[in-house]
Amino acid sequence: MSYARALRCRKCGREYPVQPLNLCDFCFSPLEVIYDYKAMAKGLSKEKLAQGPLSMWRYRDMLPVEGKEVDLGTGFTPLVKADNLGRELGLDQLYVKNDSLNPTYSFKDRVVSVAITKAEEFGFDTVACASTGNLAASVAAHAAKAGMKAYVFVPADVERGKLVGTAIYNPVLITVEGSYDDVNRLCARLVERYNWGFINLNLRPFYAEGSKTLGYEVAEQLEWRAPDAVVAPAASGLLFTRIWKGLDELAMLGLIEPVNTHMYVTQAAGSSPIVNAFQAGTLHVHPVKPDTIAKSIAVGNPADGYYALRVARQSGGGACAVTDEEIIAGIELLAQTEGIFTEPAGGVVIAGLKKLAASGLIKRNELTVAFITGAGPRTQEILSDTVSSFTVQPTLESVEEVLKAPV
Ligand SMILES: *Cc1c(COP(=O)(O)O)cnc(C)c1O
Ligand SMILES: [Zn+2]
Repeated sequence: MSYARALRCRKCGREYPVQPLNLCDFCFSPLEVIYDYKAMAKGLSKEKLAQGPLSMWRYRDMLPVEGKEVDLGTGFTPLVKADNLGRELGLDQLYVKNDSLNPTYSFKDRVVSVAITKAEEFGFDTVACASTGNLAASVAAHAAKAGMKAYVFVPADVERGKLVGTAIYNPVLITVEGSYDDVNRLCARLVERYNWGFINLNLRPFYAEGSKTLGYEVAEQLEWRAPDAVVAPAASGLLFTRIWKGLDELAMLGLIEPVNTHMYVTQAAGSSPIVNAFQAGTLHVHPVKPDTIAKSIAVGNPADGYYALRVARQSGGGACAVTDEEIIAGIELLAQTEGIFTEPAGGVVIAGLKKLAASGLIKRNELTVAFITGAGPRTQEILSDTVSSFTVQPTLESVEEVLKAPV
């Protein structure tokens, strides 16, 4: 049994029964799952949560699922105290939430695990998605586990490692000659025509809920407190809003103190419609045409941009965009200080964090969590110029010649 009560329109408040539906029939705004928090709070305690599995499913009672979960072992990823990186950036209490350590190497496993569980409940035998790469891999993997058919649509210029990392699960993999926004528009037409569970369209309200577990986990890993500052990436903006919602719900349920976390959203300068709007002081997000190496978050027309902006504003946070060169420097900095190899989305976060700390927006003594949402090895092509090595003969002399040379 779940405590999900209904779907509710985020704009006009109209309610709908729990069903595969993403947009309000009246105002076309996104729907979200609402819960009976009173009943939920009764059954919840820190002690009980601590006894749950070491995965995102320890928070099952706070998720909108009824059936047996489709789980690859996602979540409860490390929250690393990043002292080396913190020293570099002038932050005394810096943590890195390393969510690249999920089964398919990105936080997308959280959202997909919930959405596919829901797809099974709703009786779909086929799932589908529009993806910049990470979602496709995760949907394909979960569909394999659930014995469902999967159609995944990605832009044709997706990184090779992400294609291989998707194809291995044997979905129907369709590369579209166009941008992610084109792929998304295409899928919005397909969802009308085919009775498929589109993970990020008709199942989006459930998909969204999976991201909340990132907020829950971080608070639990900090011994039940919310961070002072959060730095996270945005593509559609949904993840960013749900980290906040996760923290907010914990406070509502009485598990942590009222939340006073400053939420900072980061994007690549080549695809920063949300950051642009923040800096322009408007709540209106103007679509852009993405051009950046951070392909996993290159969304020009972010579905939840407005809501992400509101979270950044209302939390007293901010927004920061970084160039492709800064992204690569961010990837290198995280690897060389903390031993964590992230993809460009993580480089965006670290480069953004660096700027936010340097400008004094994030202060030295603030407990800050940087969210690393995807792993580096699948986006190697952007780093091929950075490999430097020495070639030697298999002899001592040859090695010592290299060691003598000034480095
Ligand atoms: C999808 C994705 C995001 C952001 O997703 P939202 O659409 O903003 O929820 C961030 N990082 C990585 C690595 C992703 O794959
Ligand atoms: Zn509405």
